[in-house]
Amino acid sequence: MTKKTVLVTGGAGFLGSHLCKALLERKNRVICMDNFFTGRQRNIAPFMNNPDFEVMNHDVINPYSFYVDEIFNLACPASPPHYQRDPISTYKTNIFGALNALDLADKWNAKVFQASTSEVYGDAQLHPQPETYWGNVNPHGIRSCYDEGKRGAETLFFDYHRQHGTRIKVVRIFNTYGPNMNPEDGRVVSNFIMQALKNEDITIYGDGKQTRSFCYCDDLIRGWLCLMDSDDSVTGPVNMGNPGEFTMLELAEKVIALTNSKSKLVYKPLPGDDPKQRRPDISLAGELFGWKPEVQLEEGLKRTIEYFKEF
Ligand code: NAD
Ligand code: UDP
Repeated sequence: MTKKTVLVTGGAGFLGSHLCKALLERKNRVICMDNFFTGRQRNIAPFMNNPDFEVMNHDVINPYSFYVDEIFNLACPASPPHYQRDPISTYKTNIFGALNALDLADKWNAKVFQASTSEVYGDAQLHPQPETYWGNVNPHGIRSCYDEGKRGAETLFFDYHRQHGTRIKVVRIFNTYGPNMNPEDGRVVSNFIMQALKNEDITIYGDGKQTRSFCYCDDLIRGWLCLMDSDDSVTGPVNMGNPGEFTMLELAEKVIALTNSKSKLVYKPLPGDDPKQRRPDISLAGELFGWKPEVQLEEGLKRTIEYFKEF
């Protein structure tokens, strides 16, 4: 059997690096395309000597062309402080990045996967969030470059599917964490662990009563591969995340306990449009693939803390 050529855009990022590893383990040829906006050489260093791994330093906003069997479109900064750093570029990355991936998929009749997000639900008024919920998103706030960019990308994926018959796979990812996150990433899990390990103040935004559901990276990647391997009739969108729901105060307490930290909580202003609660309804992924997360928060945090001790 000849090897499949798989393109991973955003392959040097947190999730991209775990995906590249899993694809190489499955004996694929992997092309990692990244502009290193938030991605890091460190994440892909373990594969650099693998003859099946190739890195392309390229911005997905600009077109590209080569043969592929499959595309995983992950390129986009995921952390609010980073995607808000250059919001116009974030929006372009989502829209032009989707268009360029879809055009390449069309050319070779390749499967194309879109890393969408729970942010398409915005400040959800339905809880937990099923795929049928259309969301409650501010179209012109500070999170809109990301939320509306991802919504626009979903629109393009489904229009290509309807208009051209493109073989699409769309997953809506809920907050995921684990090793290979950048310690400077700015998301809550990496912030709290780094602060706790250094016995620095833990920054709670707002009153800390907002909730999130945290999925460990290995569970998510396993789900992605089920989706990509599924029959062409399965397009998504499919929610993937861990339905365990925690307040940021509960998360801080767990991190402090697991690190034996002396850190104290400090309260900072809540950023604009910060969603109040979030928990995935993952029954569809269960029905389709028998998928559900296996690593619960405490175990996932322990593994992630070990990784952050290196910094
Ligand atoms: P990340 O920031 O670690 O990785 C994103 C990668 O994309 C980085 O390597 C970055 O350099 C690259 N990139 C950004 N803009 C690019 C561009 N214009 N051209 C080429 N490369 C570019 O984030 P992550 O957590 O690994 O997220 C990966 C994908 O999953 C993103 O699309 C994100 O929106 C989505 N997602 C992640 C989560 C999560 O909790 N981790 C949740 C929902 C959705
Ligand atoms: N948050 C926090 N302290 C931090 C970083 C984030 O309290 O140091 C909060 C943030 O306001 C949000 C939640 O944690 O309510 C999750 O934030 P993150 O940036 O990880 O992801 P998102 O808001 O995109 O779900």
